[in-house]
Amino acid sequence: MVAIKLENIRHVYPGNVEAVRGVTITFEDKTFSALLGPSGCGKTTLMKIIAGLLKPTAGRVYFDNEDVTDLSPQERNIAMVFQFPVVYDMSVYDNLAFPLIVRKLPKDEVRRKVNEVAELLELKDKLHLHASALDAGGRQRVAIGRALVRSPNAFILDEPFTNIDPASRLVLRAKIKEIQKELKQTMIFVTHDQAEALTLSDWIAVMNEGRILQYDTPETIYDNPANTFVAYFIGIPAMNLVDCSLEDGKLISGEFVHDVSNVAEILRAHGTEFILGIRAEHLEVSTEERPKPEWVRMKCSMIESLGALYLLHLEGGGIYLKAKTKRMKISEGNYVWVRMKKEKIRVFDKKTGERII
Ligand code: ATP
Repeated sequence: MVAIKLENIRHVYPGNVEAVRGVTITFEDKTFSALLGPSGCGKTTLMKIIAGLLKPTAGRVYFDNEDVTDLSPQERNIAMVFQFPVVYDMSVYDNLAFPLIVRKLPKDEVRRKVNEVAELLELKDKLHLHASALDAGGRQRVAIGRALVRSPNAFILDEPFTNIDPASRLVLRAKIKEIQKELKQTMIFVTHDQAEALTLSDWIAVMNEGRILQYDTPETIYDNPANTFVAYFIGIPAMNLVDCSLEDGKLISGEFVHDVSNVAEILRAHGTEFILGIRAEHLEVSTEERPKPEWVRMKCSMIESLGALYLLHLEGGGIYLKAKTKRMKISEGNYVWVRMKKEKIRVFDKKTGERII
């Protein structure tokens, strides 16, 4: 297992398509990271560069401190699992044994390793079956097993759960997490599904338009997004983002007024116009009249039931917010009083989108 370090990676495809635009990041040894971003942001390109399937236009790739940029995929020994499970036209046992036979390992050792991996992936009772007879979840297990059996330097899984039915997907996700913890593999899995990234990985790299915008723990990314893209992309619903301005030590957005005199100087260095961010669960909502200016009267234009919770769409004073609350006696069209939890307010630079506070 190795730490994977990328230094100033750029990749331009023919036709001047700049898929990766200067990525510097280290995936530490033995960590489980998700590479999360919208379709077309450059995730697969970056993974192919790590695996050695693609030579970057510029930049270097290091495994631990060794520069592997010019090494072949075989020399790098990275296991890649793809969206569509790739199995060979042979039994499950032979699929798992194949990479070891190619390496000319003694038969006994092949058997031992295949059994070990089959045990891990709960494939033991399927070893005699033809791999193509398995369902998509089973075939993906075989593909993962064939990668595991090689004891690779690191594991890259590119949208490995996308084509698997929802029930098997949950089981396989849990299995992968368990295997990563047990074997302490350096694993990176590519996904555009934030729920998958948040529940599975220890670290998340959020990517957009060829750049890594933030690499951090799921909690930090959720609580302290580095910029408005991450704030909007992570979380269901997205973080509320509203225009605000700084006047006399006060942050004003619609009818909300927050005393920010303690940080006014920091903010002033960035100008007077900002974007205020607050998560839906950090808004307090009351159907009873509450005092101004902390509480603001807003109209509830829509109620989405989330089962035990409500998601209220609120309008007032020129701004629009979503609030996650416990179920309450309320109808669409009613007015409510709303307060933002002050310590949960985040402030972003309006020009760059970067978080200031
Ligand atoms: P998805 O989630 O849809 O797979 P992605 O985030 O993995 O997307 P990439 O597949 O890395 O993104 O593609 C990044 C950009 O590079 C896209 O604009 C894509 O159209 C372009 N691209 C990818 N492969 C090639 C290629 N072989 N030639 C030209 N452009 C390419």
